[in-house]
Amino acid sequence: MHLRCNNRNCAHTLDLHERVVACPQCGDLLEVVVDAPQAEPAALKRMWLERRMSNASADRSGVWRFRDLLPGPYDPDSLVTLSEGNTPLVHGLKTGKAAGLDRLFFKHLGWNPTGCFKDLGMTVGMTEAKFVGAKIVACASTGNTSASLAAYAARAALSAQVYLPSGKISLNKLAQAIDFGAEIVQVDGNFDAALDQLLNTTNKDIYFLNSVNPFRVEGQKTVMIEMMEQLDWQVPDYVITPGGNLGNTSAFGKALEELKEFGFIDRAPKLIVVQAAGANPFAELWRSGADEITPSSHPETVATAIRIGNPRSWRKALHSVKYTGGFVMDVTDEEIGEAKSLIGLDGIGCEPASATTLAGLRKMQSQGKLDRGATVVAILTGHALKDTDYILKAHAKLKGAHLAEVPS
Ligand SMILES: *Cc1c(COP(=O)(O)O)cnc(C)c1O
Repeated sequence: MHLRCNNRNCAHTLDLHERVVACPQCGDLLEVVVDAPQAEPAALKRMWLERRMSNASADRSGVWRFRDLLPGPYDPDSLVTLSEGNTPLVHGLKTGKAAGLDRLFFKHLGWNPTGCFKDLGMTVGMTEAKFVGAKIVACASTGNTSASLAAYAARAALSAQVYLPSGKISLNKLAQAIDFGAEIVQVDGNFDAALDQLLNTTNKDIYFLNSVNPFRVEGQKTVMIEMMEQLDWQVPDYVITPGGNLGNTSAFGKALEELKEFGFIDRAPKLIVVQAAGANPFAELWRSGADEITPSSHPETVATAIRIGNPRSWRKALHSVKYTGGFVMDVTDEEIGEAKSLIGLDGIGCEPASATTLAGLRKMQSQGKLDRGATVVAILTGHALKDTDYILKAHAKLKGAHLAEVPS
């Protein structure tokens, strides 16, 4: 395995464990090139299931259980893991009805150790950080990455620094980062400013763990592998996911491409990406068919996890969407709010960004674009308790006076 520049015109290659943030030739993002596994797909599918019966920590992790398609090799004792992954597919009952679907499943990544999918990438990224001898790890974040980085850094006994847009993230997430002992750097401006500030720091001791880190993308690939296993390798028609910085979209496409190339599946599900209408540069790119993304300088949405104007992984994500024959759309904050409350009333719950999925499906249905018999997997990215302020405020608005007194 090795690293390769994502820009196809450059395609510069590097050793897998080279400690660089971006391509040294052209500055584009890097990706891990995974070798075809030695064993046959049928044998690996069986082995992955068998590992679920083991108590070894590498097997109990829903990420490292699929290590045959991940970077390495790492000493099993060196893995920085909290038994992440192993998240269920939950059948959408009332939500299925609300979207006109009989077979709607939620892959709930909010049921990870710190309450969101960032843990899946962080276990791989932090293991690599330790492997290359990093002492300080850092990220910019809309909240969830910082909580996840802080937890895994604590496990790895590394110092954690998190750059956060001041006043623009959920307090629940900030509390997590503090609880796990991270150093908090509040930045004036939005997430994009925080990321710029971090990437411009000159401290050579810092190991960057933003979603542009190719090792994080590798861990997030396992969402698609685990989902396919849970569907007995019957490919669904659609996978629908929120889009912010577009790391997940990139990871899902990469996973599906590898699964197909290595003979695990014979086609990919269509990947649908949903953005918030106030932070939708990727949806705009899709609609316009332009060659380059136009960042929006004032992203605005109640779904703070995807309040991002300049998604760094857009090129990889565009490749993912095109590869699967999918598309990109956006939904309003009002549609997100309705969908979020429906997911709550189905006994599932999620944070606002995750509800873009059901909002997107309902929009597709209202436009006659969704077939009742389709099998759809909607990716819920974060736990309901990630943004309790949003819930209380929304509820106060709907139900009137008495809840309005809840302190905010
Ligand atoms: C990070 C995050 C997203 C956005 O994911 P990207 O990979 O940046 O597109 C969506 N929802 C939640 C809850 C998140 O934490």
